[in-house]
Amino acid sequence: MHDSPLVIVGAGACGMVAGLAAAKRGVRVLVLEKGTEPAGNTVRSTGLIPAAGTRFQREVGIFDDSPDLMVEDILKKNGYESDPEITNLLCEESGPLIEWLVDEAGCEMVCYTDFLYPGQSRHRMHGPKDGYGSELVRQLQDALREDPIIELRTDIPVVGLLSHEGRVTGVESAEGEIPATAVVLALNGFGGDREMVERYLGPEAAAALYYGSPNNTGEGIRWGMALGAATEHMGSYQGHASVAAPDGPLVTWGVVVNGAILVNREGRRFGCETVGYSEYAGAVMAQPGGEAWEIFDEEVYGASLGTRFDEVVEVGKVIRSDTLEELAEIFGLPADALAQTVEETNRSARGEAQDPFGRDEFPGGPLEPPYYGIHVRGALFHTQGGLKVDTRARVLRPDGTHIQGLYAGGGTAFGVSGSGYRGYSSGNGLLAAAVLGKVAGEAAASETVEDPPS
Ligand SMILES: Cc1cc2nc3c(=O)[nH]c(=O)nc-3n(C[C@H](O)[C@H](O)[C@H](O)COP(=O)(O)OP(=O)(O)OC[C@H]3O[C@@H](n4cnc5c(N)ncnc54)[C@H](O)[C@@H]3O)c2cc1C
Repeated sequence: MHDSPLVIVGAGACGMVAGLAAAKRGVRVLVLEKGTEPAGNTVRSTGLIPAAGTRFQREVGIFDDSPDLMVEDILKKNGYESDPEITNLLCEESGPLIEWLVDEAGCEMVCYTDFLYPGQSRHRMHGPKDGYGSELVRQLQDALREDPIIELRTDIPVVGLLSHEGRVTGVESAEGEIPATAVVLALNGFGGDREMVERYLGPEAAAALYYGSPNNTGEGIRWGMALGAATEHMGSYQGHASVAAPDGPLVTWGVVVNGAILVNREGRRFGCETVGYSEYAGAVMAQPGGEAWEIFDEEVYGASLGTRFDEVVEVGKVIRSDTLEELAEIFGLPADALAQTVEETNRSARGEAQDPFGRDEFPGGPLEPPYYGIHVRGALFHTQGGLKVDTRARVLRPDGTHIQGLYAGGGTAFGVSGSGYRGYSSGNGLLAAAVLGKVAGEAAASETVEDPPS
């Protein structure tokens, strides 16, 4: 046998879940993390993982969700562009993953029912009861610490892969070469690498605020490509249409779902906001200055409290005013145009006129004084294109053969959001990170046992 561990690069959801899954199969694991602590997107995220058919859904009265329905929702959103086998895998395994996280890893998961994310036909977002991605990371880290055959080493950037006769045999780290039975690339995508963003996502995304981790600089994808791996959907990303200007916090899309509208510098709406936050990010990025103003009223404000929206209120980014004229003046928007926009919107909300952009959901009804507003920017959250993998998370070459000893998941692998920013369904990020992490950990562990490297 061999003494080397399974090496996992990156300690986000993908890397930590992969490590736990492999260790449960008796394989020694070394997780190498670039940051002084896990510092990727998982820790910055809202921490919600979509899953169908869980017991946590049943606990809140949802009995009719299924992996098939989830597949259909994801495919509809991405225009049927995502790989059908990977899409099926992620949805089939989503429910078992959530229950495994609770039963085997000691994480806490509840099914959230506060609002239905655009494109999801059932409430299926799961996460820790309190707190966000930071809490999910804390719980995963605790589970890692409790497992004696997992070692997590921080502050050790991996700088390359070692390979011999086409098989990956280890990694080159800041501390030298580390041999491995196999390597799982869990270091997310290239949102933090401006050159790759410009090349693959284009100038508007490159000019937008990047709200993900600066550590995610695309090297995992480049190493795979250098070994002959195929990539797919490199132009795909998760954007967000409402991050408070100039640099946060995130304004949860629940505010729009509850009835807010977005206007540009001219005080005019510029599309149907309810298409979803990633799809609408492109519309905001295309406005002068890549900015917009979210306008709503007391009813929407009240309905949004008690969610991540509270952070935006706490830092003073939500402006309240008794009149639209005053709100327009505070934001430097043309008052007449803003008043006209709100009047037009209210006609649609009252059902007196067809909405010019086709929006038919105004749950808060017409916007009434007092008014509220937030200055927001379109942002890039993370990239969704990456190394092509099979249903065992093995990295593939263009001819469909796999590179021995190399696995990928999360943002390093290709996602299920199709080719652009329009196809991202809420939760696709953590879904691919956590499910592919588990699949990669288990597959790499079984390969280690069945076919040890010589
Ligand atoms: C504000 C925000 C909110 C979000 N909310 C959600 C949500 O609610 N639901 C959802 O599904 N998705 C959400 N996402 C997306 C989601 O966070 C990511 O898709 C997911 O966390 C990716 O997980 P990962 O494990 O692939 O990567 P990460 O969590 O980014 O982990 C990668 C790790 O690799 C490390 N690393 C990088 N390079 C190296 C290297 N060379 N050597 C060693 N280590 C390295 C990084 O430091 C990092 O710790 C959100 C994103 C943002 C920015």
